Amino acid sequence: MDLKHWLGRADDAIQKWAGTFGPYEPHPSLHVDDDTFGALFDEFTVRLRDNYPFFHPSYAGQMLKPPHPAAVVGHLTAMLINPNNHALDGGPATAAMEREAVARLAEMFGFDTHLGHLTTSGTIANLEALFVARELHPGRGVAYSSEAHYTHGRMCRVLGIEGHPVPADGQGRIDLDALEDVLRTGDVGTVVLTAGTTGLGAVDPIHTALALRDRYGVRIHVDAAYGGFFTLLAGADGPERLPAEPWRAIAQCDAVVVDPHKHGLQPYGCGAVIFRDPEVGRFYLHDSPYTYFTSDELHLGEISLECSRAGASAAALWLTFQLLPPTPAGLGRVLAAGRRAALRWADLIDASDVLELYQRPELDIIGYFPAVEPTTLTAVDAASARVLADGMTHPDPVFLSTLKAGRAAFAARHPCVTADADGARILRSVLMKPESEQHVERLHNRVEQLTRSR
Ligand SMILES: *Cc1c(COP(=O)(O)O)cnc(C)c1O
Repeated sequence: MDLKHWLGRADDAIQKWAGTFGPYEPHPSLHVDDDTFGALFDEFTVRLRDNYPFFHPSYAGQMLKPPHPAAVVGHLTAMLINPNNHALDGGPATAAMEREAVARLAEMFGFDTHLGHLTTSGTIANLEALFVARELHPGRGVAYSSEAHYTHGRMCRVLGIEGHPVPADGQGRIDLDALEDVLRTGDVGTVVLTAGTTGLGAVDPIHTALALRDRYGVRIHVDAAYGGFFTLLAGADGPERLPAEPWRAIAQCDAVVVDPHKHGLQPYGCGAVIFRDPEVGRFYLHDSPYTYFTSDELHLGEISLECSRAGASAAALWLTFQLLPPTPAGLGRVLAAGRRAALRWADLIDASDVLELYQRPELDIIGYFPAVEPTTLTAVDAASARVLADGMTHPDPVFLSTLKAGRAAFAARHPCVTADADGARILRSVLMKPESEQHVERLHNRVEQLTRSR
């Protein structure tokens, strides 16, 4: 897609629509001449160079990549109108697009019924899920694994409910025996399971945990902010295949969160929360003196804790889904490439004598560390930090990230490494760009070289 062409077409289309209304003069207070703007724009774009090249395959660090050009064009075109998806009056077209895009997400997870909406982020989406959970189980707390995103503990404090962290097993998944011990106390009303932890992409055993719901009368919320779109690889043909059971089980859970701004090719500002039971909409009820007047239909603002939300986000997601739908043959192919890249890199590291795999990747995130002498956590930590820093400043740079692995978690995977500290940083690469697949040998060689040159 030629962005230059399509951004021009976006402006044309909106101007043409604007021209169907009466002519008017823009106010002189808003006037900016092109020369003034030109000079400032140059300064602005120079400042933006202070960034890492998230788009480039040599960037194999955090969960960051630019949006798809279709999402950029969709976002910008709608933003020229600037609809607000708080209410139908704020943007009927983008409210309809939001409903359709959310229905596709619900369908991807196999929900028979749903009530859901887009949010500004995974954080807000999870907050809404926990808010509804609290309303349904007042006075009872929330359990989540120690590897769950830190937002759950924090949002429990915001909501005034007790958070119960549960230990994770040797693969970073919630320990179901430990979870059951917590549930036996009767103090917990909701269990948060993570489908793809932010650290290493571990997937909690959702299918097995489902049995606990009836036994202990709890709700199950799935935080699939990062991993949700990997549902598309459940039971796939080929090496990227994921075991179907945990992903298929999401359809039975009470709520799920997924971030289209992570693996849905969207710019930031696009999370989603989906409830299986549409009846939970009653917890959002309120009377707004300002807005709803054109329809009897449920407004998105009536089922969302956020008020103003960018209609442009819904437009971008809708347009992207028309081209790359959340199906195995659509977006699934994009995720499959990153997953194959992680598997390939894991094999290369297994065969390497200078790098060691922290654990096998479940999705497209890989954790590894330099094989050091002496084999202590302190030495692993120092070597990881050095490779990270050297990689970024090298003339042929490679961008990684680090992850702090706790002492017990490290010992569960690598008992031979002497635990002389309370943990160690390891190297971590999120291979969320499909281009990583073509680049993984090069990435591996670069990291091996950096590790050797000390
Ligand atoms: C990223 C993430 C979040 C937080 O979402 P934001 O969109 O960054 O606010 C929550 N849970 C998990 C598992 C995540 O990966």
